[in-house]
Amino acid sequence: MNAGRYAGKTVWVTGGGSGLGRAMAQAFAKEGAAVCAIGRRKEPLDETVALIESAGGSAFGIACDVRDPERVEATAREIVARTGRLDVLVNNAAGNFVAPSEKLSPNGFKSVVDIVLNGTFHCTRYAFDELRKARGAVLNIIATYAWSGEPGALHSACAKAGVLAMTRTLAAEWGQFGIRVNAIAPGPIHTEGTDKNLWSIADVEATVVKQVPLGRLGETGDVSRAALWLCSDEANWVSGAALPVDGAHWLHGGTLNFRAAYDAYAGAAPEAQKQ
Ligand code: NAP
Repeated sequence: MNAGRYAGKTVWVTGGGSGLGRAMAQAFAKEGAAVCAIGRRKEPLDETVALIESAGGSAFGIACDVRDPERVEATAREIVARTGRLDVLVNNAAGNFVAPSEKLSPNGFKSVVDIVLNGTFHCTRYAFDELRKARGAVLNIIATYAWSGEPGALHSACAKAGVLAMTRTLAAEWGQFGIRVNAIAPGPIHTEGTDKNLWSIADVEATVVKQVPLGRLGETGDVSRAALWLCSDEANWVSGAALPVDGAHWLHGGTLNFRAAYDAYAGAAPEAQKQ
């Protein structure tokens, strides 16, 4: 598969064995990239590679825990040994769970910060030399609660806020090398991770859908399409951006929750507007 926006390029996707990471790996491969998917478990990575190869694309998996800087450095070297280059790094790997902050253990907080914040730093740090040569791009997958906060997921909100700061800092620091650094903040989407940690909670899905102004949960393709654009030359003057891809969910319909109140308000409006 040589045609496409990413023909001849190498893309590294962390957490590429499931969910959004797998979908982005498939999307970049469909556009011609050689894709390296990493994660701790080998089997899901093998499945991602098989899916890509069966569609005519090129991919390989490397078992790597992003918390381990030496392993990450070796992985970066292996990617370059196998493909000769690195054009795009997608920092997507994450762990999460719901817990009231007063019951959150120090270890629970630390594990999520280690994966999300330290892991993103490790991969970005060891991708730098090759990204500089390629005048490449980093894409960090965050969440809109990096700026709004997220009651019940303090660990993840703090980690994602750190990654947002990293995105902006490196966009400013590495622009001189031609490296662009951006973030996507996905809204609620069914994946392996959220099926286990979020959608399993009673009534959450129905409640969340009502909060999305565009009226539906997201699909993995919504995020992949934005990722393809942000990392491509079509976005070559976009850096330091944090793009919500969430159906405007983070705005929650505004203070009035206007969508829910719309019918009642519409009837009252003519009188109210006479004041
Ligand atoms: P997911 O299905 O749980 O995928 C997370 C991936 O990260 C897994 O493949 C996992 O593989 C990998 N991973 C976890 N710890 C790792 C480690 N220490 N080293 C290497 N890889 C590791 O989650 P998802 O829903 O697709 O989420 C993808 C990204 O989108 C995350 O950054 C998440 O915060 C963000 N996001 C998702 C949503 C949503 O609704 N889905 C909303 C907002 C933001 P292993 O377990 O094999 O390591």
